Amino acid sequence: MTDLLNSLTRAVHGVVRSDAAEILRVDHDASHLTGHALAVVAPRDPDDVVALVRWAREHGVPLVPRGAGTSLDGESVPMAGGVVVDLSGWNRVMEILEDERLARVGPGTVNRDLQAALAPHGLFFPPNPGSWTVSTIGGHVGTNASGPRSFRYGPTRSWVRSLEAVLGTGERVGWGGRAAKRAVGPDLLSLFVGSEGTLGITTEVTVRLAPLPAIREALVVDLPDGGPLAPVAAALARARGTGLAAVEYLDRACAAELAGPQGFDHRRDGPLLLLEIEAEDLTEARARRERVGEVLRRVGVVTEPTVYDDADVLWTLRGRAGVALDERLGHRIREDVAVPLAAIDPLVVELERISALEHVPLYLFGHLGEGNLHPNYAVDPESSSGLRVRAAVLAASSALGGTISAEHGIGAIKAPFLEREIGTPGVEVLRALKRVCDPDGILNPGKLYPSPRE
Ligand SMILES: Cc1cc2nc3c(=O)[nH]c(=O)nc-3n(C[C@H](O)[C@H](O)[C@H](O)COP(=O)(O)OP(=O)(O)OC[C@H]3O[C@@H](n4cnc5c(N)ncnc54)[C@H](O)[C@@H]3O)c2cc1C
Repeated sequence: MTDLLNSLTRAVHGVVRSDAAEILRVDHDASHLTGHALAVVAPRDPDDVVALVRWAREHGVPLVPRGAGTSLDGESVPMAGGVVVDLSGWNRVMEILEDERLARVGPGTVNRDLQAALAPHGLFFPPNPGSWTVSTIGGHVGTNASGPRSFRYGPTRSWVRSLEAVLGTGERVGWGGRAAKRAVGPDLLSLFVGSEGTLGITTEVTVRLAPLPAIREALVVDLPDGGPLAPVAAALARARGTGLAAVEYLDRACAAELAGPQGFDHRRDGPLLLLEIEAEDLTEARARRERVGEVLRRVGVVTEPTVYDDADVLWTLRGRAGVALDERLGHRIREDVAVPLAAIDPLVVELERISALEHVPLYLFGHLGEGNLHPNYAVDPESSSGLRVRAAVLAASSALGGTISAEHGIGAIKAPFLEREIGTPGVEVLRALKRVCDPDGILNPGKLYPSPRE
């Protein structure tokens, strides 16, 4: 082992660490899984990444790329051991091209830092996962992350113009480019987004940007207890043109957690809708708020909303409620399914049935406007009951024409379920791609692809 570490230290210029504190840090992400890393390397530059990949191929050692390690399905956990490639030091905005609305960034750029750099230019990067204060653009590309604002703007995939990466072969590639359009066959860039560090290590990303709205306000609205959700979601989806950027749902149990954080002005014991409205001035904001109110009244939601002038205040409070849920429930089943809007209520019925059958409490929240729900079950994910709950939730979503992952990714936890969603030919296509990009299978093994025949 010492010889291996010594040869690693000789092969790269970046810092190599293998002390217990550092290993403990990278052996986890936000899932319940634990890995067993041999070492952590912080490469110095793309050439150093090439040297690291060559070393890993020569010694048959897995490499696990890592940004902030906030993945929820074990995407960044070194399950097969090996070396964690820590890109968090590559937190740099290299260039902002205002006219083209592009920014060239290092993969370790934290979403919040990027937004801070863009704000003086009147621009922003739309994807905003709940983890945006710490998670990185490289991680967003890895998982095709999205967040509340994907209701209006879509996921990370829609906002990547180009990237540079080192494949598992050690070759450097650049996919996409500054041109706003290209029609050059299947989109390699798009295939790379969401590949969870299994094809290559991203060394640079050029992201697209949107103009920052002058006003981003948030509304908190009471929902009738037990009322149908699909008509609300469908009515608001039809009203997308009214500056509506986010349509979020919290069931009664989750809303109770939100009631805790200081600064939350809306008090009621029941499910809530959280909306974000964008506008260019106060008059437009008021008009849009009234229009959204009308839309809601037509589907039976009649209560007056509480208005937050700065949407980020509400999202921060919601983030704190999430932390409270983490503390209350600890490791749990936290799923990320999405169904067609018309299937939302049958899905909720099924989720509640699973909760009753297994005698495990359900906490439900999510991006209602996109039919994307996050059922959280207070059960040990590795227990037999936890395993049954996960399988039943994923099966329910698939049966309703939905997906097993809307935004969090597949990781190690859902790899066994991938084939059911994309079929055997789909898995074979991904495997063929993997064989070309990473012939020795050193990049993030055990993730995304079903493991038995990897
Ligand atoms: C509280 C909380 C809220 C969250 N909310 C959301 C949400 O609303 N929406 C959502 O989509 N997700 C959400 N997530 C999940 C997670 O934050 C996102 O997937 C995020 O994009 C991960 O970023 P990261 O920097 O932590 O990446 P990591 O966890 O470090 O890595 C994610 C994946 O990308 C790969 N990767 C990272 N960097 C590179 C690189 N340079 N090259 C190649 N591969 C790389 C890793 O190997 C891994 O497979 C949430 C997580 C938490 C803990």
